[in-house]
Amino acid sequence: MASQLQTAIEELVIANRIVAAEKVCDAFGHVSIRHPDDPRKFLLSRGRAPELIEAPDIMQFTLEGATAEGNGKPYIERFIHGAIYEARPDVQAVVHSHSYSVVPFSVIGEKLRPIMHVCATIGADIPVWDPEHNFGDTDLLVADMQQGRDLARALGAGTSVLMRGHGSTVAGASLREAVYAAVMLETNANLQLRAQAFGPVTFLTPGEIEKIRARQNRGKPGEGFDRAWQYWLRHAGFPTDE
Ligand code: MN
Repeated sequence: MASQLQTAIEELVIANRIVAAEKVCDAFGHVSIRHPDDPRKFLLSRGRAPELIEAPDIMQFTLEGATAEGNGKPYIERFIHGAIYEARPDVQAVVHSHSYSVVPFSVIGEKLRPIMHVCATIGADIPVWDPEHNFGDTDLLVADMQQGRDLARALGAGTSVLMRGHGSTVAGASLREAVYAAVMLETNANLQLRAQAFGPVTFLTPGEIEKIRARQNRGKPGEGFDRAWQYWLRHAGFPTDE
């Protein structure tokens, strides 16, 4: 029987292929999961485009971003992941991306907000993190723990945080939830851009968002995040597991 770690690595490879197939990540962006046997570590590929990632690419890092296992060249922005796991014991998976429809909402002062019921997972209040506030001019990358912790503070207890002029990061209680939220963040941004071109938009109310999320969190196998995962498995060329 496969160990928990082997299973986690296989699922993480699949998650990387899914975010590539769904156009959330292109050459850039990354997905991680907390180590199943050691909450003080996380699993993340070596620095590589998500579509290309295979099991031997998966490395292990301490929450401070030091390599604990594997010897590839890591992503510069691994601190995004470590700092969020450090701040949020409830988070089991993190997706960072530069998905194109989301980026405008990081620079226009207009909030990205849930507009469609399946997108409620992205959260009612989505902050924008601006590295310029605490770090002055940077190259926009989250390149150390100080910046990672600042980003994690901006995320707070939420699911999604936008990063000014750069992209976004989402955190989930499971890998499937994090991948779902990352796909829906891009979907919602795309819909919101189109709807707003016609004038003021009626967004989901905070009460609606809460009810939808409560239903999703009660989801049984084959429902919600899991149903979406099965669909995205097929899209990314993997057999479904039901
Ligand atoms: Mn980035």
